[in-house]
Amino acid sequence: MQVKPCTKCGRPSFYYRPYSGEYLCKGCFVTSIYDITLQTVRKYEMIKYGEKVAVGVSGGKDSVSLLYILAKFFKSNEIIAVTVDEGIKGYREEGIEIASKVASQLNVKHVIYSYKNLFNYTIDEIQEYKGKYSSCTICGIFRRRALDIAAKELGAQVLATAHNLDDILQSYFILLTNGDTERLKSFNPAVESSEAFGIRKVHPFFRIYEKELAMFAMLKGFDFQTVTCPYMQQGIRSEIRDFLNRLEERHAGIKYQLLDTFMSFYSKEFKVGGQYCKMCGWPSKNELCQVCKTIDYLNKNKYKLMSENNELDKHSD
Ligand code: SF4
Ligand code: ZN
Ligand code: ZN
Repeated sequence: MQVKPCTKCGRPSFYYRPYSGEYLCKGCFVTSIYDITLQTVRKYEMIKYGEKVAVGVSGGKDSVSLLYILAKFFKSNEIIAVTVDEGIKGYREEGIEIASKVASQLNVKHVIYSYKNLFNYTIDEIQEYKGKYSSCTICGIFRRRALDIAAKELGAQVLATAHNLDDILQSYFILLTNGDTERLKSFNPAVESSEAFGIRKVHPFFRIYEKELAMFAMLKGFDFQTVTCPYMQQGIRSEIRDFLNRLEERHAGIKYQLLDTFMSFYSKEFKVGGQYCKMCGWPSKNELCQVCKTIDYLNKNKYKLMSENNELDKHSD
């Protein structure tokens, strides 16, 4: 079969981009990922000259790519890689090792924040106490806070994470299924409202398909984490991911359309929050923030289980 020429430069193409109708050679494809990212950063004023940028780096393909692009194109900014250690044996070790290696190759400072130190629980430990919640729900609540704490402690003005178009759409659908209309109106996938002490939370990849970021990372020859989290299938997110992928296969570009539709719900005036958690002092939309509520819930389940076990021990004596 004859290879189609690249729509941009005429060289042999290696990829057909269904949503735009373009044939792209490897070089033009890589350039297109740079272009989309830089246009997104510029359009939404994500990073300003001289600002300190904390980048969440899990060691996965997306976050490694984001660190690479920010280190390459934002030389006037101090970039710091932050890895969150959820405490998942057999999974997180590989990510930490890769994040560390990539950061040192890029000459970027690397710091690690662990759930155990911050919240006194690892994700492995909560398995016994998480009750009706999925690991991912609790992990997501802890991760947001861990990254906020890191950015604040590092004195960063910007917190960049590698959420891609697929991640963002899945989050929108989770909000829909939860009936969380407040968050639907206040969620801006480009620049999240800066609840955490004025830190701007940005997603430079929010207009890039997950599949294309995987191709980008592979073409660039990056090392990235291959082991998947053992708790991944617990949440509804993976079902939504499959559903959206099936839709996109049959209707190229529908993910972009959905993103634009969801973004039209966003209202600048609609702000959630405005108060501070009475336990930890962090910005919160209720008296108690989600993190404190979660820790309280886990503690209660833990003590309940401990007293049940004590009772059993007594009876077996
Ligand atoms: Fe955490 Fe879920 Fe991701 Fe595992 S898959 S790291 S539990 S959010
Ligand atoms: Zn080309
Ligand atoms: Zn709190």
